[in-house]
Amino acid sequence: MLLQNKKIAIIGGGPGGLTLARLLQMQDIDVKVYERDLNATVRIQGGALDLHTESGLAALTKAGLIEKFKTHYRPGADLMRITDNQAKIKYDQHIEVKSLNFGDKNHRPEIDRGPLRDILLNSISPDTVVWNSKFQTMKKSGNGWEIVFENGNSIFADIVIGADGSNSKIRSYVTDAKPIWTGITMLEGAIKDAETTAPNIHKLLKGGKIFAFGNDKTLIVSSKGDGSFGFATGCKTEEFWDKKSGINFNDSKQVLTWFKKEFTEWGKEWQELFENEKTLFIPRPQYCMPLDLKWEAHSNITLLGDAAQWMPPYAGEGVNMAMLDALQLSEALTNSSVTDLKEGIADYEKQMFKRFEKIGQGTMFNTKWMHSPKALNEMLSMFSTNILKQSVFIGKMFVSVTLVPSFLKLMGLKPQQNIIS
Ligand SMILES: Cc1cc2nc3c(=O)[nH]c(=O)nc-3n(C[C@H](O)[C@H](O)[C@H](O)COP(=O)(O)OP(=O)(O)OC[C@H]3O[C@@H](n4cnc5c(N)ncnc54)[C@H](O)[C@@H]3O)c2cc1C
Repeated sequence: MLLQNKKIAIIGGGPGGLTLARLLQMQDIDVKVYERDLNATVRIQGGALDLHTESGLAALTKAGLIEKFKTHYRPGADLMRITDNQAKIKYDQHIEVKSLNFGDKNHRPEIDRGPLRDILLNSISPDTVVWNSKFQTMKKSGNGWEIVFENGNSIFADIVIGADGSNSKIRSYVTDAKPIWTGITMLEGAIKDAETTAPNIHKLLKGGKIFAFGNDKTLIVSSKGDGSFGFATGCKTEEFWDKKSGINFNDSKQVLTWFKKEFTEWGKEWQELFENEKTLFIPRPQYCMPLDLKWEAHSNITLLGDAAQWMPPYAGEGVNMAMLDALQLSEALTNSSVTDLKEGIADYEKQMFKRFEKIGQGTMFNTKWMHSPKALNEMLSMFSTNILKQSVFIGKMFVSVTLVPSFLKLMGLKPQQNIIS
């Protein structure tokens, strides 16, 4: 086998890196994950993620972890309410009783990031993740790499996999491609003990998700199993707004002042999200890698997940792509018919580039219309009739097609019943 007696260093222990570690370790490959976090519990993991049958769930199935997933996912957490900017419910999936099952193509069960990370961590041998290992630099050494971490440690690896997320430090060793500014900044926050801290939004959320639209802005709220919830505003800003605005994002009063001004047409109901002094806010400027992403394959280094194909989260594909990358990369590297490493890596990258071209375009399409004046109507029109005319994005073109319920389902959407006029 190609990877026999080779040391694999995965930089970054997010869902992509850990899935790859599990899949390689199942084949007795010598793999380590170098993660900057001090330990598994040091950072509160973000909000819920929905995993898709053909990507995230397929990777978990191959990793032998689907039964574990079934005991940790949160049935009902995917139920969505669409509201206007006054928190008036316009569409409500909680009214609908029918739910999908595992194996249904459109089933998108939700799991919190923490439990997903735990499932993956518990599936690999305990010494696989080397915590407190923030990548600093590396240089070629023979056919491999000499990697140096911020803590002063250095190691040798035959193959390096950059799984270090959107601001990847490994990316520049693989490609000159740079993320492109999308014009949108998200502001992410988390509310602990939501029932008492933000009781009205907690009630509106009902253990599921809220998508609110208005005045070219978005607000997405998603419940977590520990009684907290995460939320993220999205609005048009200049690049580097997070630095230029002068806002101290650790000071909720300053953030509330910003929200009142920036979301001035939005109802007072939402201010609850910004009134708690303990809420932590993280600005997330949104970039997208070039949609025609391509590079010449190397024989000893590649990228996966956000490090390779960073895109905004407005199609809910990021984690699913990261886990599918891990699956396809593990298969390409361990395929007995592949005779050289560069060929294996090229084979994986070819699949990833092709997939990203389509998924990235759909994501950018969503990012644009969700931050336009037609967002709410556009979203609701997807649910308003059984058969409707709707501009949707397929491949490289915007085409007008007739959407039938099965197509809505294909897109992870549930048709019609719950429009509230
Ligand atoms: C607000 C928000 C909401 C989102 N919602 C969704 C959603 O609903 N559905 C969805 O599919 N996706 C969503 N995403 C995107 C999703 O989170 C990412 O696509 C996914 O986490 C990518 O996985 P990854 O393993 O590639 O990278 P990450 O999850 O970013 O993991 C990277 C890991 O690398 C580590 N690391 C970083 N730098 C270094 C370094 N120098 N040295 C060592 N380690 C390092 C990090 O600590 C981290 O553990 C959302 C993103 C945001 C910001």
